[in-house]
Amino acid sequence: MAIHTMEDLMVAELRDLYHAEKQLIKALPKMAKAAQSPELKAAFAGHLDETKVQVTRLESVFKLLGQEAKAKTCEAMLGLVKEGQAAIEDTMAEEVRDCALIAAAQKVEHYEMSGYGTLRTWALQLGHADVAKLLAQTESEEKAADQKLTIICEGLMKQHGKQMAAAH
Ligand code: ZN
Ligand code: FE
Ligand code: FE
Ligand code: FE
Repeated sequence: MAIHTMEDLMVAELRDLYHAEKQLIKALPKMAKAAQSPELKAAFAGHLDETKVQVTRLESVFKLLGQEAKAKTCEAMLGLVKEGQAAIEDTMAEEVRDCALIAAAQKVEHYEMSGYGTLRTWALQLGHADVAKLLAQTESEEKAADQKLTIICEGLMKQHGKQMAAAH
């Protein structure tokens, strides 16, 4: 699709985010499975449920804009998911692996926060307050997910600091 207007650009970016979210629906169950800490497992499982709602929220956004809900490959998310996968494979010690998973997940959340933040601003400027409101909802879920991961990582490092520092 050729992009001429800001409206076109907004739709293109929405399609990128749509693809990104769909990838996460596949990746989050694997991250939950790989996580050792029950708290982290629960956080990934909880965010998977939220992500499913975020996908339907994007479908509502396309509908409001009179656009087809089509996904456009998000290369960035493919890369972030790939890095997360490598972290699972390379990190042997369980608590350290949990922190590697958190690091990968936080990069994902920040990518999403940036995407939704930009699109919320555009939607508002383009007169789509209804769309902006839906995007803001998802944006705040991504922020909350990111903050929760920070707290879990701090907890793990406080709890397992000694083992995490020792060589296995
Ligand atoms: Zn056009
Ligand atoms: Fe998301
Ligand atoms: Fe992207
Ligand atoms: Fe997210």
